[in-house]
Amino acid sequence: MTTDLAKFAKDNGVKYFMISFTDLFGGQRAKLVPAQAIADMQEDGAGFAGFATWLDMTPAHPDMLAVPDPSSVIQLPWKPEVAWVAGNCVMEGEDVAQAPRNVLRRLIDEAAAEGLHVKTGIEAEYFLMTPDGNQISDEYDTAAKPCYDQQAVMRRYEVVREICDYMLDMGWGPYQNDHEDANGQFEMNWEFDDALKTADKHSFFKFMTKSVAEAHGFRATFMPKPVEGLTGNGCHAHISVWDAPGDRAKTNVFAMDANDSSQTAELGLSEKGRHFLGGIMKHASALAAITNPTVNSYKRINAPRTMSGATWAPNTVTWTGNNRTHMVRVPGPGRFELRLPDGATNPYLLQAVIIAAGLDGIRSQADPGKRYDIDMYAEGHKVRGAPKLPLNMLDALREYDKDKSLKAAMGEEFSAAYLKMKQQEWNDFTSHFSQWEKDNTLDI
Ligand SMILES: [Mg+2]
Repeated sequence: MTTDLAKFAKDNGVKYFMISFTDLFGGQRAKLVPAQAIADMQEDGAGFAGFATWLDMTPAHPDMLAVPDPSSVIQLPWKPEVAWVAGNCVMEGEDVAQAPRNVLRRLIDEAAAEGLHVKTGIEAEYFLMTPDGNQISDEYDTAAKPCYDQQAVMRRYEVVREICDYMLDMGWGPYQNDHEDANGQFEMNWEFDDALKTADKHSFFKFMTKSVAEAHGFRATFMPKPVEGLTGNGCHAHISVWDAPGDRAKTNVFAMDANDSSQTAELGLSEKGRHFLGGIMKHASALAAITNPTVNSYKRINAPRTMSGATWAPNTVTWTGNNRTHMVRVPGPGRFELRLPDGATNPYLLQAVIIAAGLDGIRSQADPGKRYDIDMYAEGHKVRGAPKLPLNMLDALREYDKDKSLKAAMGEEFSAAYLKMKQQEWNDFTSHFSQWEKDNTLDI
């Protein structure tokens, strides 16, 4: 049954709705709509000038409407008079093809038509910085191996507890919080869910974490590598495929018996699981353009060893069992972990590209290739024939542009718009002058 947002407002004392959508660069945009006006908005959507956001539109385009998806509505736990609701972008009665939530919805429908329902859990790591973003917020958080640091996590207890309490209130099933591997870095885990639900929660988690951090005088950042020399912000995704969405899911398709002696079956991945993983491996270099979408992303992957001793990020397209030094880890039967994505990834495009690559893998019966049960950080040089991940954003965009089947699966309109916007961003980056250039070129 569809939630009536006007009634929701009345029942819950909501005065304003944020009708929100996410653009190609992951920016969350919203209009603040008073509850008195929500009934009409629920039907028609809130109007935006698409050109004013990163969606590859011109000032001449007609109004873009974000039509709220009432099933996504969340009352802000820290400001209950406001409710957030994800919107689907529509123009002249048609879904805007390149809008990230629409790209994901289309791929979910495509997978569902084949009886496949992707569920994911994500690990959205973040740093707590000073408000200007220049330093980590805790001057005493200086340990060489700060992961799980009991004292440091308790110095930020009030922030972590507040966010975790809100997740408990919202029914997300949070189950653990910790200090992560970089000074100033934290991770909070909640239960996996259907891909669209996880994408909405991922978006809301970023908004919530930034908001709570601000209220405590800090600045939360999901930037892939906010501090040189420290471990970066990953956004690992744990992936499984089920026979039905939501609570109707009974069978994990990845956990079904594989009647073969493949290297994936040994780890408890079914044949469909093997092919899905094969699709991820096949498209890895191209999908990095989505999972690692910024200039800064490439300072996390391919990085030199960090102060803690490991980057915890991959540099090569390899997979393995329960071993964190590869791009894909199969930690146990029925799921695998993609360790490539970083904190800058667009919550909707991350899920979309996983489904696009995985579906292609199943359709083409892709094989993930050889399993390497080695420490990639120490012995990676021994691996022959596995592609290296792109070294920078431009390489990733070129890989994406070359990958015709992934581009088609993500949608031609989306792919063209994304490549165009991202190429402009790259041009903007390369035309800026840095101190490094001066230091290394002035006296040449
Ligand atoms: Mg982590």
